[in-house]
Amino acid sequence: MEGGLDPLAAAGQGVSLDPADWERFRALAHAALDEALEHVRTVRERPVWRQTPETVKQALAGPLPVEGEPLDAVLAEFRANILPYATGNIHPRFFGWVHGAGQPGGIVAEMLAAALNPNCGGRDHGAIYVERAVTDWSRQIFGLPEGASGLITTGTSMANLIGLTVARHAAERDVRQRGVNREGGRLMAYASREVHSSVPRAMEILGLGREALRLIPADGDFRVDVAAMRAAIAADRAAGLRPFCVVGCAGTVNTGATDDLWALAELCAEEGLWLHVDGAFGGLLMLSERLRDRLKGIERADSIGFDFHKWAQVTYDAGCILVRDGALHAEAFRMRPAYLEHKPRGLAGGVDWPSDFGPELSRGFRALKVWFALKEFGTRRLGAVVEENCRQAAWLAARVAEEPELELLAPAAMNIVCFRVRAAGLSEAELDALNEEIVADVQESGEAATSSSVVAGRRAIRVNITNHRTRLEDMEILVQAVLKAARRRLGQD
Ligand SMILES: *Cc1c(COP(=O)(O)O)cnc(C)c1O
Repeated sequence: MEGGLDPLAAAGQGVSLDPADWERFRALAHAALDEALEHVRTVRERPVWRQTPETVKQALAGPLPVEGEPLDAVLAEFRANILPYATGNIHPRFFGWVHGAGQPGGIVAEMLAAALNPNCGGRDHGAIYVERAVTDWSRQIFGLPEGASGLITTGTSMANLIGLTVARHAAERDVRQRGVNREGGRLMAYASREVHSSVPRAMEILGLGREALRLIPADGDFRVDVAAMRAAIAADRAAGLRPFCVVGCAGTVNTGATDDLWALAELCAEEGLWLHVDGAFGGLLMLSERLRDRLKGIERADSIGFDFHKWAQVTYDAGCILVRDGALHAEAFRMRPAYLEHKPRGLAGGVDWPSDFGPELSRGFRALKVWFALKEFGTRRLGAVVEENCRQAAWLAARVAEEPELELLAPAAMNIVCFRVRAAGLSEAELDALNEEIVADVQESGEAATSSSVVAGRRAIRVNITNHRTRLEDMEILVQAVLKAARRRLGQD
């Protein structure tokens, strides 16, 4: 037989990829686990981040492996070329973007999920019930009623996309069949100018377009101006457009501001609009009895997106979408071709397959590491981390305010502090450039890592704290690292 497999050839014993010598494999696997735990245990002793050397990049860009090599050789390469060059977010002084730190239980959970290797698209097996438990606990955390649905996602970008997809479906029940290119007025959504970029991207992906997302000004505390939003909705209706959705921010990515979610819920009730809340990290204030009042109104949302991998200390990646009307959620996604029919019994049984609630069919067992974290720490301890990080942010803001060389650029409303170095005689453009360089200087020093952003037109050193390992002393080390870099740049040392 030419150019194909000979169907008549003996099938033999299979091409098993299992180890020939399980005992040897077991020893390597145990050693790898020990190494992983040691890596995490000793993280404080290492630099936060280091640049990946060119030689390593080249080694990683090597040729496609055609012949395999023994696992110990693969592990050796991992140890040399991958392990030392991680993002750094497990380090107590990683303050960039909004990165969670994870915790050691996550290593165990990921390992066990890989051992079971279930496909969580659906069917009737244990992992499905774990995901259901986790999403139902989430529903309870946010105060949504029974009957609400939930899906574990890669993150809040996907959660926002799913939330807006259901919102679009609620506004136009035949959109799945007919698409969005219709007469009758364009569907319009409304959000703060401070809304995360995943929301305009969701509008793009949904075919609604970014123009159909009205970005509403925020006040001096970076909270959306609800009166301006109400006016924009009225103007659009008058112009023959069709408002369908409001996106509220529970913790904006730039400054940690939270919109008045109660006022947005009132507005949506009056106007008959869908309220989606992006609570990527800020939604986790719900874990704290002291802080959850700040999100008052979130329990009235039609859908809520949030992340476990940020402030709930679950390893990447894991987010969640909750939808108040679970039936509507399924209506927006369900597909039942013959090969995916649900059966009354057997493995194809069970109700509410996760694949009915999102765009993905095959899905990994992300829910297990969330389940482990919630079981091991409980909401109380995870909430204590949230409170501690907020206290640390408030401390840093006060510390910045008292330091003549530093200047706060936004109120520290939650866990994010935006500030900059100031220096007499420099123009705004020069200050922007100086602060940008300082952020990179501090990252390259390995002492700490922040990110940078623009707040009210000014380049900011942006500090986000979503890390259970961070201590107050780490905040002071950061301040000293920034001051040291600034003085060096300004020729003062
Ligand atoms: C991080 C973030 C997102 C996106 O979430 P991913 O998990 O990164 O996809 C959306 N909104 C806000 C406010 C965020 O901080």
